[in-house]
Amino acid sequence: MNPLETENRSLKRTLHVMISKAERNRDILHTFQEIELRLLSCNSLADLLDMLLITLREYFRLDDVRLLLFDPEHAARDLIPDYNPPRGDNCLAFTEDYRELRELYDEPVLPRLGCHSDQLTEASFGPGSRIGSAALLPLVRQNVIIGSLHLGSVDPSRYNPNVATDYINHLASVIAVCIENCISQETLRRLSMIDMLTKVHNRRSFNHELAREMSRACRSRHPLSCLFIDLDFFKKINDGYGHPTGDRVLRGSAQTIKDQLRKTDFIARYGGEEFAVLLPGCEAAQAMQIAENIRRAISAQAFVADNGKQFGITLSIGASTCSEHDLDPQNLNDLAELLVASADKGVYQSKAQGRDQVCYCPIRPEPEQQELMPQSPAQAAEPGDSQVASLPS
Ligand code: GH3
Ligand code: MG
Ligand code: MG
Repeated sequence: MNPLETENRSLKRTLHVMISKAERNRDILHTFQEIELRLLSCNSLADLLDMLLITLREYFRLDDVRLLLFDPEHAARDLIPDYNPPRGDNCLAFTEDYRELRELYDEPVLPRLGCHSDQLTEASFGPGSRIGSAALLPLVRQNVIIGSLHLGSVDPSRYNPNVATDYINHLASVIAVCIENCISQETLRRLSMIDMLTKVHNRRSFNHELAREMSRACRSRHPLSCLFIDLDFFKKINDGYGHPTGDRVLRGSAQTIKDQLRKTDFIARYGGEEFAVLLPGCEAAQAMQIAENIRRAISAQAFVADNGKQFGITLSIGASTCSEHDLDPQNLNDLAELLVASADKGVYQSKAQGRDQVCYCPIRPEPEQQELMPQSPAQAAEPGDSQVASLPS
């Protein structure tokens, strides 16, 4: 072989290696782009966490993925009370202590790739971890580490400090933006649906839910009941004990009402001292029972005024029901209005009959149901009821 041929072969080999490298890089870039697109399309924090903790692990064939989020005000945790992290709780953790995150990184804060010390591996993956090498990605927004994502492999050669970190740096930035976006968007959405004083849903949210529950009831041919609840003589509490005490009563009542409901029920603050409740799947009798439980629980509750004085309150409830045979898919809006108007009528009736009671008001007067059906407190009184002190006069 002449020197020219030898050189030619050598050049071909080099070219082949370079093409393979370029193809590998293109594949890596493609994978990263695909992941980033999927991350950016997550529209809830729960989806995003699933993406990071499940999908990322599968995509990169990792042995462990853990995420630690800086969550000093529980903003993230409040959004996902029912979120179940995959593989138990260990892969997702929250901290209120910024040092816990800061200590994982050097200055400047950059991804750390390689076989880490036992101490750092334990801090990133928990005690007894079999991780041989890992990429620790700081999730930084406006110079604050908002979280740390840990990609771990049992293979000690999987991550080493010499590899280029451009892709992984970019991925970490995208993840940080996605986490911040999801938290702020969901918090905003929540704030627009929640009553800030009582932390139950607001009226707007109730109207939304009413429409949804109506359609659901119609589809599944299940009844839907509604309760309207109005605190009795609430003005006197404000006048007698002051607004802050009144506010506490509203918060306490909302919680007590909530405690009497099932997980599938829905409570909203409808107005000043009025609450509205939706009871999917409840017939009139069941709705009346729940309403009565609420009435009793509230009248047995002791409140403490700012001046230290104990007092009790009562409330008036109106109940209404849409039965299966009422549900007409062409007419759901009218039916929803009728359901609410009837429950409201029930409240007026309870007030007119002396307050501290539950009145059922049918959505359509039927021959045998033309009268509102009051349930007097005396009928349902329990021994504890009489222990509550009277209102300030
Ligand atoms: P009734 O038994 O007939 O329902 O009498 P009431 O005093 O409960 O009803 P009224 O409508 O006369 O008064 C409601 C009061 O609720 C008046 C208003 O100042 C008070 N209120 C409304 N929103 C709030 C609030 O957010 N905080 C406090 N403390 N009071 C509120
Ligand atoms: Mg009122
Ligand atoms: Mg009232």
